[in-house]
Amino acid sequence: MSEKSAYILDVRSLPYGQSTQQYHITKELFDGIGTENEQKGFEDIISADITADVMIDKSEKLISLIISCNGTIEVVCDRCLDPLDVEIACEDNLYIKFGGDEMRDGDDVIVLDDKETKVDLAQYLYEIIITQKPYRCVHGENGEGQCNENMMAILEKQCKKDYDKEEIDPRWTALQKLK
Ligand SMILES: [Zn+2]
Repeated sequence: MSEKSAYILDVRSLPYGQSTQQYHITKELFDGIGTENEQKGFEDIISADITADVMIDKSEKLISLIISCNGTIEVVCDRCLDPLDVEIACEDNLYIKFGGDEMRDGDDVIVLDDKETKVDLAQYLYEIIITQKPYRCVHGENGEGQCNENMMAILEKQCKKDYDKEEIDPRWTALQKLK
């Protein structure tokens, strides 16, 4: 666990009962997390501006968290390559348990031993947000403005060129053979 993370929850010092914490999520969260492959899949995230509100309920053996993430991530449009804002609004539960030998870490359960005092929420916040990112991000599908027309014209031209090239090449080759 990195102490440098901006998303540390100091569980031992939390008061019993209900409390809240707030974290501000920026692009930094996506840079330091996930496997190399996962990071490659999210290279198109330009920036992030998300508020994570965490509602905490602490008892002696268990801490329940309700994490609400609201804001936007800025991504590259899959069609015109211009920036595009994707709205993020989601909520997830997470549980932290103390010192149960019989308990194991699960998808939404973190088990701490007696010496651990802090939980890094970075990985959990990352997963909550990343599942909200559509597989395909393009302008105009959810009212996020229109695709860049100039870029679309260039891409269309390029596509046509590639297409023509592919069409002509085999014929030229055939002609060459006739000589
Ligand atoms: Zn676009």
